[in-house]
Amino acid sequence: MAEYQIHQFDVLIVGAGGAGLRAAIEASAAGVKVGVVTKSLLGKAHTVMAEGGMAAAMGNVDDRDSWRVHFADTMRGGQYLNNPRMAELHAKEAPARVRELEAWGAVFDRTKDGRILQRNFGGHRYPRLAHVGDRTGLEMIRTLQDHGIHQGIDFHMETTILTLLKDGDRCVGAFAYDRERGRFRIFHAKAVVLATGGIGRAFQITSNSWEYTGDGHSLAYHAGAALMDMEFVQFHPTGMVWPPSVKGILVTEGVRGEGGVLRNKDGKRFMFDDIPANYKTQTADTEEEGWRYTQGDKSARRPPELLTRDHVARCIRREVKEGRGSPHGGVFLDISWIKEKLPNAAEHIKKKLPSMYHQFKQLADIDITKEPMEIGPTTHYMMGGVEVDADSQMSSVPGLFAAGECGAGLHGANRLGGNSLSDLVVFGRRAGEYAAKFAKEHDAGMIDHARVDEVAKMALEPFDRGAAGENPFAVQHELQEMMQDLVGIVRVESEMESALGEIARLKARAVKAGITGNREYNGGWHTALDLDNLLTVAEIIARAAIERKESRGAHFRDDFPDKSEEWAKYNIRVTKGAAGEPHVERVPVKPLTEEQKLVIEENK
Ligand SMILES: Cc1cc2nc3c(=O)[nH]c(=O)nc-3n(C[C@H](O)[C@H](O)[C@H](O)COP(=O)(O)OP(=O)(O)OC[C@H]3O[C@@H](n4cnc5c(N)ncnc54)[C@H](O)[C@@H]3O)c2cc1C
Repeated sequence: MAEYQIHQFDVLIVGAGGAGLRAAIEASAAGVKVGVVTKSLLGKAHTVMAEGGMAAAMGNVDDRDSWRVHFADTMRGGQYLNNPRMAELHAKEAPARVRELEAWGAVFDRTKDGRILQRNFGGHRYPRLAHVGDRTGLEMIRTLQDHGIHQGIDFHMETTILTLLKDGDRCVGAFAYDRERGRFRIFHAKAVVLATGGIGRAFQITSNSWEYTGDGHSLAYHAGAALMDMEFVQFHPTGMVWPPSVKGILVTEGVRGEGGVLRNKDGKRFMFDDIPANYKTQTADTEEEGWRYTQGDKSARRPPELLTRDHVARCIRREVKEGRGSPHGGVFLDISWIKEKLPNAAEHIKKKLPSMYHQFKQLADIDITKEPMEIGPTTHYMMGGVEVDADSQMSSVPGLFAAGECGAGLHGANRLGGNSLSDLVVFGRRAGEYAAKFAKEHDAGMIDHARVDEVAKMALEPFDRGAAGENPFAVQHELQEMMQDLVGIVRVESEMESALGEIARLKARAVKAGITGNREYNGGWHTALDLDNLLTVAEIIARAAIERKESRGAHFRDDFPDKSEEWAKYNIRVTKGAAGEPHVERVPVKPLTEEQKLVIEENK
């Protein structure tokens, strides 16, 4: 066996975003030895980009809010495919997790009487998002890092996990390389928590950072865990569309929460044209009522711009497709119009949405206090992920846990904005607690050195092929374009079948990827090693999307445009079959308890 540096931990956390850091803090507080591995630098995880806020029913702005309303909103948003136990735990525990962040030093925006301010967001009945302007993720990461660093946690930055290691059925660690020097490392651990985030880089237009190559999803799947709800990829309605170099960058839902409206090229507020039946009673009848809602009038109902993301994205697509779009293929999002209502509108916008103001000024030369933005849908979030136990977050592989965006269950067919940041801290904490418990109850297990050598050899093969091999960037680029075209916001069976053919062809090219140069900070090598993850998740998304023959939440089928009562009964689970092929199956949705049924009924 080759010699590799070995690190020993009780609990290994893969990922230093909100979920990973919160898990690390909890595991460390339980008295076990914790290591955190992250592809990027500490403070750079994707969570830092989160803008609008974290959802928690604290009732600071509207005291009618409660865990019951938050639970019902989350289930309705997820079209009842959510794991109801996770939705209940999330709604009940999120307020305590926000207060805990405050106690650890997070400086949230304030109400006039000094409480944590909460803002409106799509699909939430009451103002519920605790926030720090439009830089909430930055504050969350800063706070968790400051707190975590004092807990004696061992951080390994710029280190990428290549495979999980198993002893029999159990996960006992991971094998990695450091990006700086390209050296291999073994992380031997009694329990492993995956907190690797999403998959957005499998698509061409995305709000996601370079890290989102579906690593955790793919690592878990290859290790034998089940993936669930993979057909549900969220296309956020508002990404930048112009100039081309910034296409996909997110425009926070907070803009609409603060009164921003969507208009087509004729100036029409088209969102009033199509309000889904299950949201009719909760949606404003007039523009005036919608405006009053955004300004905190408790007797008003939310404007249709704050309907769920899947619906708003499809309405925008309809306007563009029917020739009513903006010059660069989107529609207009206008917050500047509030000057008709507020005397100090420009200052108000800059205060409430400072990042959006700078983003448009610097990237598009648009002053959002004076003119509308051009926006269109962008790949944003993965509802699907590793199937986990609701309470412990352990997957079907003993000792392997998952939390945050790479886990599945809380969001069902569609995530409500703000429910991710709260997901990270609620289920990150739980994953850390239960991983520490598992570590205390088990020995370290054995490392399979033959497997380690095999993975190391495979990882170095792109150097052997050199310039004669396939260009990894070209394979990645073609995959992204193809997924956007064939498995994107509107899907049909024939296109998804051709996507599977394309994926098979790209897989054959990916295993022949070749690179030049050496192992130090070699971007080509990193991309070559990401390809298997991207192709694995792309195939599973396409297969799950072909299987679900209906339109629900984020999954829209042109050939099955309606919701089906039959499909409402199932989640889709994908596991790796004996011959290495994906095995797709329907599993019954988790039943509601009597109390949960009552809560949903009382909030209809
Ligand atoms: C622009 C934008 C704005 C958003 N705004 C909001 C918002 O206002 N409210 C909200 O609730 N949600 C928001 N979201 C969604 C939310 O930010 C994410 O879902 C969430 O931050 C994911 O956190 P995480 O801890 O699961 O993963 P991340 O924060 O992405 O962390 C993943 C970590 O895993 C590491 N990693 C990945 N693969 C590997 C590997 N192979 N080896 C080692 N390490 C690895 C990465 O380096 C990183 O450290 C937003 C998303 C975007 C893109």
